[in-house]
Amino acid sequence: MEKKASLKDIISHCKEYGFIFPSSEIYDGLSASYDYGPNGVQLKNNIKDYWWKSMVQLHENIVGLDAAILMHPKVWKASGHVDAFNDPMIDNKDSKKRYRADTLIEDYISKIDNKIEKEVTKAAKRFGDAFDKEQFVTTNPRVLKNVAKRDGVQERLNKALREDDLVELKNIIVDCEIACPDSGSRSWTDVRQFNLMFSMQFGALASEAENSVVYLRPETAQGIFVNFLNVKNATRQKVPFGIAQIGKAFRNEIIARQFIFRMREFEQMEMQFFVRPGEEMKWYNYWKEARMKWHQAVHPSEKLRYHDHEKLAHYANAALDIEFKFPMGFRELEGIHSRTDFDLSSHQDLSGKKLQYFDPEIKESYVPYVVETSIGLDRMFFAVIANGYTTEQVPNAKGGTDERTVLKIHPYLAPVKVAILPLLKTKPELTSKAREVFDLLKVITDCQYDEKDAIGRRYRRQDAIGTPICVTIDFDTLEDNTVTIRNRDTLEQERIAIDQLPNIILEKIKFPNL
Ligand code: ATP
Repeated sequence: MEKKASLKDIISHCKEYGFIFPSSEIYDGLSASYDYGPNGVQLKNNIKDYWWKSMVQLHENIVGLDAAILMHPKVWKASGHVDAFNDPMIDNKDSKKRYRADTLIEDYISKIDNKIEKEVTKAAKRFGDAFDKEQFVTTNPRVLKNVAKRDGVQERLNKALREDDLVELKNIIVDCEIACPDSGSRSWTDVRQFNLMFSMQFGALASEAENSVVYLRPETAQGIFVNFLNVKNATRQKVPFGIAQIGKAFRNEIIARQFIFRMREFEQMEMQFFVRPGEEMKWYNYWKEARMKWHQAVHPSEKLRYHDHEKLAHYANAALDIEFKFPMGFRELEGIHSRTDFDLSSHQDLSGKKLQYFDPEIKESYVPYVVETSIGLDRMFFAVIANGYTTEQVPNAKGGTDERTVLKIHPYLAPVKVAILPLLKTKPELTSKAREVFDLLKVITDCQYDEKDAIGRRYRRQDAIGTPICVTIDFDTLEDNTVTIRNRDTLEQERIAIDQLPNIILEKIKFPNL
């Protein structure tokens, strides 16, 4: 039987096995800042690689970019971030804690959802095989009451967000009797807007120039827009074409929380796809499907779903999220937005530089429309770990069972692909043969040589970091040049010749099937 992982289990596993450490831990950490350890950085690089290859290598019409984090302040004026990159915040007067008003309401809605789910689970147990879920949720009075309550609050929230109605947001909090999660108090301030950009002084003299305030970029996308002409001219790409970029972004989130789900410094993998005006919905649908396939190639479909946006950002004419089932429920993992010509047109207006494309097919110049795919690298990391983390019983050598914790992550993403294990540390003929195998394989992929402790414990260590293949060198190896390879998930072992190892391993760790 597999056990469901809690957020706490995942956080402590990540620390123990060198995936993620709290930042500046010796000074008690900095809230919501994290460092990626030796296995973490490997996993992160593999996710980047999976994204980059699926975008840039597999599409002739997508090219890469690595723009600077610090940009001219006018970029953020044109993009609308100076005026509109706000979240509604509210303070609790007793605890002095600050919250995002919309998140407080969303959490309240999740609680109602949990109540509904509990009723259904209880009834399913009570009625056994005869249970008809559809009938139950459409007739049970308690469920119906909660569904109506949830839908009512959700509708009010959507409307308030659409209309930027801060008074109504406060009213919902008051009407639903939402209390401060910290103090339980219901004494709230009014809701106000809070700009999420970090600003800083550029250069040594504060008074040097009016432009001396710069921002840490809150998204990587603008680096792509301001380089649209440079890239087009340098690569002679024709619309439709895309520019892909991976890089850090910074947001002064009102509350950063839930491990690496919401941080103030994080990394994005964004692709802006430039299309002919009027064709944006075709490409929006194309990327909606392509991105879902990318996720499904490494994660089960039932943990993924679409969520259409009710409130469109100032630049979008269509938007959706791909949500993933994290330990705290379904949450946004990636956003797909049809950004119209908003960004290029705004930069054109403010900079006075023409940001247009001459389309030879229709012999017309225009400002291209843009479809964006934007995924948080850290959220994808979290999804990979949360989905893979499994505790289960496995047979032991004495005929009983042992509990093991294993990260069942896609082999292409695993931080270490192959562990090379001599059966005994004390036999030099075994360890030197194992070193030979290690030298053969380490130029092909990420390998780890491990000779310490009994073989069972070494298997457990590799399971815990998600190593898909363990290669064991034993006395038979010395006779016939064969080794045992063990499969992480099935625990099956096969005997194969050393000279076949590279091909077999490359097959097992190959690029996900898109
Ligand atoms: P949210 O609604 O969760 O605040 P968002 O809609 O503001 O996210 P986008 O601006 O669409 O997010 O950013 C694209 C992606 O960047 C998101 O889908 C998410 O994966 C990631 N992301 C955004 N904010 C953060 C953050 N504070 N920490 C980690 N990842 C983030």
